Amino acid sequence: MKTIIDKLYKYNCLEKEEIIYLLKNLDENSREYLINKAYSTRLKSYGKTVFLRGLIEVTNFCTKTCLYCGIRAENTNADRYRLTKEEIISSCENGYNLGYKTFVLQGGEDPFFTDEFLVELITEIKYKFPECAVTLSLGEKSYESYKKLYDAGADRYLLRHETANPKLYSSLHPKMSFENRITCLKNLKKIGYQVGAGFLIGLPNQTIEDLAMDLLFLKNLKPHMVGIGPFIPQKDTPLRNEKAGDSYTTITLLSVIRLLLPDVLLPATTALGTIDSTGREKAFKAGANVIMPNLSPFECRAKYSLYDGKVFTDNESAEEKRKIEEKIKNAGFEPVMVRGDNITWKRI
Ligand code: SAH
Ligand code: SF4
Repeated sequence: MKTIIDKLYKYNCLEKEEIIYLLKNLDENSREYLINKAYSTRLKSYGKTVFLRGLIEVTNFCTKTCLYCGIRAENTNADRYRLTKEEIISSCENGYNLGYKTFVLQGGEDPFFTDEFLVELITEIKYKFPECAVTLSLGEKSYESYKKLYDAGADRYLLRHETANPKLYSSLHPKMSFENRITCLKNLKKIGYQVGAGFLIGLPNQTIEDLAMDLLFLKNLKPHMVGIGPFIPQKDTPLRNEKAGDSYTTITLLSVIRLLLPDVLLPATTALGTIDSTGREKAFKAGANVIMPNLSPFECRAKYSLYDGKVFTDNESAEEKRKIEEKIKNAGFEPVMVRGDNITWKRI
């Protein structure tokens, strides 16, 4: 086991069989060894810094029906909202005054948010806050649409591949295409975005072999960011009675990803913080170096309910930021509010 971990640390790659062996046979000692190697790797690429990004959940309307998601089109219990351009700008302003240098605009696939609307919005954010990065996470679009948004100033795009097993993908995503998801990721890279892929952990019927496929998919795609988190059931979805993914596996996978992609931006996700109250601190020690506190207007936070039990606060964003910074410092890391681009990226 030690030989495999040392190889992963030294060469940042492993064969599929080795990954499967690693995931199936890790004991407490070897897991600690793995996590320590991921920790030294993050020290080399990003030191002890943890980047803070302000997350704005711009709409919970969605035309897609991903089986696991609480804001899927078929959920008639979802209380729908969409922010206006003014509300989004004012959330950015609020974030800017707190020191945020990245705004992440995330939402369902909402046809109301046309290219024209988004181009105007991004242009205005960039005009008002020129030193800030704009990250989008708005689902699948055509090459042309992604290009327009990039040209308007968007810097990064988060689009998880969700699972690299095409069969599992199609069983969870009615009327969606795995092939198109991958084409979108490739188009985003081609255009010049910093691209974030990633997957869900603990999906029903997901195997260790599937997780190994996810890791190899990432190694092959070489994204600038990777978002992974446990699947958590949501009460109004077809997967309501399924078991959630676990924190232990999520942390192990974070450290493998840090070792496979030493320079990657790797968030400690809210979903992880939801199933394990100290999950995000553990994640920083295992190689995570990003956190995305919520900047959405308070009245929307409960409505953006992708899964049950989501940790969100209805106190001030300033208070939330202070608490998160304290968490980061207590875990032995340094919260920073710079743009925090991937060290290998430049706008083309
Ligand atoms: N609509 C966009 C962005 C919003 S959803 C998209 O799908 O790309 C953002 C992420 O939330 C998804 O990529 C998915 O991985 C995650 N998610 C959705 N439902 C979830 C659940 N029940 N548990 C954990 N994560 C979930
Ligand atoms: Fe829509 Fe994204 Fe949820 Fe799928 S995961 S239903 S695309 S918001």
